[in-house]
Amino acid sequence: MKTFMDRDFLLQTDTARELYHRHAASQPIIDYHCHLDPAMVDEDHRFRSITELWLGGDHYKWRAMRTNGVPERLITGDASDWEKFEAWAATVPYTLRNPLYHWTHLELKTAFGINDCLSPQTARSIYDRCNDRLQNDPAFTARGLMRHYHVEVVCTTDDPVDDLHHHRAYKEQTKSSGNDSPRMLPAWRPDKAMAVESPEAFRKYVNRLAEAADIDIRTFGDFTDALQRRHDFFHAEGCRLSDHGLEEFYAAPYTDTEIDVIFNKVYDGDELSATEIRKFKSAMLYFFAVQDAEAGWVQQYHYGALRNNNSRMMQQLGPDTGFDSIGQWQTARELSRFLDLLDSEERLAKTILYNLNPSDNEMIATMLGNFQDGSVAGKIQWGSGWWFLDQKDGMERQMNALSLLGLLSRFVGMLTDSRSFLSYPRHEYFRRTLCNLLGNDIEQGLMPFTGYEEQRVRQMVEDICYNNAKCYFGM
Ligand SMILES: [Zn+2]
Repeated sequence: MKTFMDRDFLLQTDTARELYHRHAASQPIIDYHCHLDPAMVDEDHRFRSITELWLGGDHYKWRAMRTNGVPERLITGDASDWEKFEAWAATVPYTLRNPLYHWTHLELKTAFGINDCLSPQTARSIYDRCNDRLQNDPAFTARGLMRHYHVEVVCTTDDPVDDLHHHRAYKEQTKSSGNDSPRMLPAWRPDKAMAVESPEAFRKYVNRLAEAADIDIRTFGDFTDALQRRHDFFHAEGCRLSDHGLEEFYAAPYTDTEIDVIFNKVYDGDELSATEIRKFKSAMLYFFAVQDAEAGWVQQYHYGALRNNNSRMMQQLGPDTGFDSIGQWQTARELSRFLDLLDSEERLAKTILYNLNPSDNEMIATMLGNFQDGSVAGKIQWGSGWWFLDQKDGMERQMNALSLLGLLSRFVGMLTDSRSFLSYPRHEYFRRTLCNLLGNDIEQGLMPFTGYEEQRVRQMVEDICYNNAKCYFGM
């Protein structure tokens, strides 16, 4: 029997162990998509407790607690930090075989050096030890944790109306102090500029955009001018990536006149028809993609989530609180049309596609090949297992399908897509999983590992962990 989560966790062969410890473990982290709060980085936030850090916004844990019969008061309610932690500690032993069990213990081990398993028996001791470090150790602030995990760059997720003042302030601070602080770059996430399902919220958003861009928005042309002004501003602040959260892809035919009319209609507060919504979303997706192509950015698409399924809890807690699931749409044809339109106009930027439904894996893995144009290695990427798929099985399935149907060697690798400063061990988890896949192939004679090929495999590990992302994003 192997020891739980020892030095060779997830590494089943000698070759895997050698590849991981020699080539993967020490690589810096480029976390090219995350949801960290820029204010916490800028202000070098100190966490009041492990509860704030772990349970403050982690809807994965909240779902598990609800499933385990924990009442909402101890999850998102007014219970004390200790009460919430105690409820989580009592849940953890019931998360065996759920990725939360691995995440929890990898975080305890790599951040705090705690090797005990969390349970009601160890809860008090772990709570006190973690809080002592968080409250007193200078290395346990937001930035301290990023440095601890060897984070080189993070790209946050920012709305076009955001003034990015935390990004600017942080950049100034780190420039003047000249230390080895991680870089924090903004990323452009204009979802609200497409959200015409709710005319009232859309109108409010347009008004905020008008203010941010200092443009009086009366027409669709003014609207896109304002977005372009904000895109230019983001570019000047170092942004080189966009990200879009979509249910599915949109490539419906439309005319410019139709879009002008639809914009005026929704801005005036009228509900749009399903057809009008599709046309508008298609026009916006195209507009954003052209912006990115012209600015030389990378565009990312996260698609396939069915959100806010529980209307009672949506009323009570709002979005992103653990009531989303994997959706089911037929989007291959629309995705193909969308990419083809851009490619035919030579306006297809570097693109990363993330599917939430694993039944789309092979569809996406083969879609990539249609639009690789030889200009950049791995121009169209398939993002690492995302959200519900961000675990051992999901990562293995993504890397296996990518290997079979594309080029794993050109993969830009892992990202946390997380709100937590403790999520960086997910890169370690990914790297161990990658090395294990390669090690198994080598030991079974499926992959050569002598001479030139041995060097290629070693390089491949370093590339997927770090070099490919560095090169792809130009960071
Ligand atoms: Zn995300």
